[in-house]
Amino acid sequence: MLKLQNISKTYVIGEFSQNALDDISVEFRKAEFVTVLGPSGCGKTTMLNVVGGLDHADKGDLIINDKSTKNFTDQEWDMYRNNSIGFIFQSHNLISHLSVLQNVEMGLSLSGVSQTEAKKRAIEVLDRVGLKDHIHKRPNQLSGGQSQRVAIARALANNPDVILADEPTGSLDSETSIQILDLIKEIAKDKLVIMVTHDSEMAYKYANRVIKLKDGRIIDDSNPISKELKDGSRLDLKKTAMSFKMALISSINNIRTKLGRTLLTAFAGSIGIIGIALILSLSNGLDKEIQKFESETLSGYPISISESRIDFEKIRESTEENLEEFPDQEYATMYDENRFQSFLTPNNITDDYIQYVEDYVAGEGQLTLSGVKYQRKVNMALLKYMTVPGIGDTYIPIYQETIEENEDTNPGDVFGVNFSFFTLLPEGDVFTNNYELIYGTEPVQDFENENFQVYLVVNEYNQIFKSTLRVLGFDTESQTQFNFEDMIGIEFKLFMGEYYPITSDVSDAMTITISGIIRSKEGSNVSLLFNGLGYPAEVASHIYETYPDEVGGIDAISLYPIDFESKDLVKEHLDLYNVDKADADKVEYVDQAATITSMVGGVIDTISIVLIAFAAISLVVSSIMIAIITYISVIERTKEIGVLRALGARKKDISRVFNSENLIIGFAAGVVGIIVSYLLIIPINLIIENLADMPNVAKLSPLHITALILISVFLAYVAGFIPARMASKKDPVIALRTE
Ligand code: ADP
Ligand code: MG
Repeated sequence: MLKLQNISKTYVIGEFSQNALDDISVEFRKAEFVTVLGPSGCGKTTMLNVVGGLDHADKGDLIINDKSTKNFTDQEWDMYRNNSIGFIFQSHNLISHLSVLQNVEMGLSLSGVSQTEAKKRAIEVLDRVGLKDHIHKRPNQLSGGQSQRVAIARALANNPDVILADEPTGSLDSETSIQILDLIKEIAKDKLVIMVTHDSEMAYKYANRVIKLKDGRIIDDSNPISKELKDGSRLDLKKTAMSFKMALISSINNIRTKLGRTLLTAFAGSIGIIGIALILSLSNGLDKEIQKFESETLSGYPISISESRIDFEKIRESTEENLEEFPDQEYATMYDENRFQSFLTPNNITDDYIQYVEDYVAGEGQLTLSGVKYQRKVNMALLKYMTVPGIGDTYIPIYQETIEENEDTNPGDVFGVNFSFFTLLPEGDVFTNNYELIYGTEPVQDFENENFQVYLVVNEYNQIFKSTLRVLGFDTESQTQFNFEDMIGIEFKLFMGEYYPITSDVSDAMTITISGIIRSKEGSNVSLLFNGLGYPAEVASHIYETYPDEVGGIDAISLYPIDFESKDLVKEHLDLYNVDKADADKVEYVDQAATITSMVGGVIDTISIVLIAFAAISLVVSSIMIAIITYISVIERTKEIGVLRALGARKKDISRVFNSENLIIGFAAGVVGIIVSYLLIIPINLIIENLADMPNVAKLSPLHITALILISVFLAYVAGFIPARMASKKDPVIALRTE
């Protein structure tokens, strides 16, 4: 059944070579108690390991069932160790983080016995070795004798044909030794027991065959097999495989014994996950905010094309540096509009151009524009009742607009008032976000009596155009400060149609009164620079509706893009019109939201890059750390690896034990990461709310949570893969010899 044939094994250490086994030939019977006797270092353990298939000879052959094992595969060796051999070691070699019961179950579950069956059989053998009451204890809660009983139970659990015991009583006192040997003898009546000892008294007392070993050679065999007496019995080989559940139980138990370290690892491993979670939650939330912001912004700040274009860049470049911005004073100062005039560029909005825009709106614009507004010319004059030398008190036109083609829309007139004297204010949020009332009250409209109220607009230095001040009745020659108090209540008449002094009837004209003074807000993003009277859109609508006969052709166009990307497309198309045109024929638009676009994009890009870098680094670091932890774990558990291999665990099963541990750590890291992210999102949202007035921006979706936990599990698995493989490749003999 089992035969060693001319087995030799030599260990070479440097220049020194040690003959551990030297041409050993011996055959064993199916049922006998053999002791191998010899002094320490004579090769007993090596021989036992060769018989048990843990170690392999350099020369010679182990014959199992009359078959050479020279060509045995790894799998066949695993099967042999698991089904045919039961190992009992001198130092018990119990797995310390498994209970007594689980230690015994381990070998059974490796041979594919179901969990319930394994438990039943393990309890049975533990009962036989007298440990029924101790099955839930840990190995370190047992005495030496009890531990060895567990080892015996483990060796017996699979009902192997061969029991190999390497000095099983070596670490026990003599009384316990006798109990243990009695137990082995009793339990292994019908088995082949090969027991190694250096105690000759014990060898002869228990064995029915004593083989003496010296310097790796057999020097005596008390009961050798004669060739005629072959019994023809065979060993039975079955496949082994550790159930995933067993690997998981082993991992969970092992993790439990070093909970602190595992939690720390999981926490460190979670840092990368936290990084990604925060990026996802932020970009998710910011994306929505940006979309909201885009549509809000673009609905307020269209691409506008009007007859005169203000060059905002030039204005920004020429800001007067020694003036105080946003002064806290209740008076205005004077601003010479001749400077302003140089910032104006005329646009020639021809029918051709209007057609060009209308074609776009009807075609491609369907996808890029959310709206279009055409501003029309109106026949009207703004009048002020004042004293004119030589004529007396009368209404003087200070601003005139006409619908006639080819006529100057903004006549210079007596006061040299330019077009921006009378301007449509933006609506809704755009207005409240960018302007503040610094004096007076909000306008109230009385549509029935056509009594309208308007704002007077000053720039960020509280300046008003010289011509405007003169229209308001101030002496611009001798005065330098113009009190807001004196401006409130100033009244104008709005006369529809063309005004002729003396002949025109002013009694039906609308009344326009200044009710308050506004200025652009500090930090407002958009330079909607204008100066003079600002009237609300509702007043304009009323005029358009009530006096349709006075409304003429298109004066200005406002295009409202859907989002920032569409805006670029719209601008591209408008730019196309100017290609190959002479400067005078070019039509330039004003992109009022241009400044915001670049600012928002920049901030978000920076945040994303920083966060992504942070997350990438921490993911790499945590992966390396898990690899190191697994490596340490492999080193710490070398002995366990040897024991598992002796029990018949495949290489695969060993890596599975470590891999499943990493899966648990990865899962824990993922869960910890999500929890910490949730906690971090609270202050992050508060900070963003304070800084940007956007509540609850960062949000984690369930999809992200699942994905992140899966990523964490996957990374931990990948990181621990190589150390786990190293573990599986360990030589079981060397593993068992390590302390
Ligand atoms: P025993 O069990 O009889 O005390 P061993 O079988 O353990 O003896 O060892 C036999 C000889 O082989 C000893 O001299 C030991 O030092 C040597 N030996 C065993 N294993 C190794 C090894 N892995 N490397 C080098 N020498 C070894
Ligand atoms: Mg030994």
